[in-house]
Amino acid sequence: MKIVVATTNSHKFEEIRRIAPERFELVKLEQTLEIEEYGHTFLENAIIKAREVGEFLKSPVIADDSGLVIEALNGFPGVQSARFMEGEPYSRRMEKILEMLQGEQNRNAHFHCAAVFYDPKSSVLMAFEGVVKGRIADRIRGLGGFGYDPIFIPLHQTRTFGELPSSLKNKISHRARAFRGLFHLIEVLVRSKYGQRVLDRSG
Ligand code: IMP
Repeated sequence: MKIVVATTNSHKFEEIRRIAPERFELVKLEQTLEIEEYGHTFLENAIIKAREVGEFLKSPVIADDSGLVIEALNGFPGVQSARFMEGEPYSRRMEKILEMLQGEQNRNAHFHCAAVFYDPKSSVLMAFEGVVKGRIADRIRGLGGFGYDPIFIPLHQTRTFGELPSSLKNKISHRARAFRGLFHLIEVLVRSKYGQRVLDRSG
């Protein structure tokens, strides 16, 4: 089954491709579409992305919206994770976050991911969310991953996502949890009679 992944972020695409069962043929979105993420939650924004891209391409799509939620900053940067200091390198953005947390004892944080499947021909929409809990490190550590990975230490670990092997991140991350759930739902749909009709019509 061919599904377009509504992201131009190669890191995200690669993570989702590794989580997907082999029978799914995932294709990265080639063009950049200007989509206003006006939702107040990750789920709302993921639905907006999936519907806009699905309607534009007239093809089944999956989309995600994700971000870092820091307890002591009342959830910041949250849904603004990508837009916070946009244009600046992530090293500067992470330094700023560490500065905002200076002297703060509560380092609790989590990554959140909302994953959505949308088929424009049948209007079937399914969603699954995942989180990985952890804490913010006291300095930037590691070169792996992307975004805020070098300041996030997942629960039960001593190293950041920037230092840990990507194979471990792909087992325990917010994205892994959300997409494992979503791919399971898509497989249940595919096995149903109704799903066969959806897929026949989506080609
Ligand atoms: P989105 O593309 O609108 O979902 O933006 C998500 C933003 O959240 C990314 O640009 C990163 O800043 C951050 N983010 C989401 N997932 C991760 C992750 O797995 N590691 C590090 N940063 C992440």
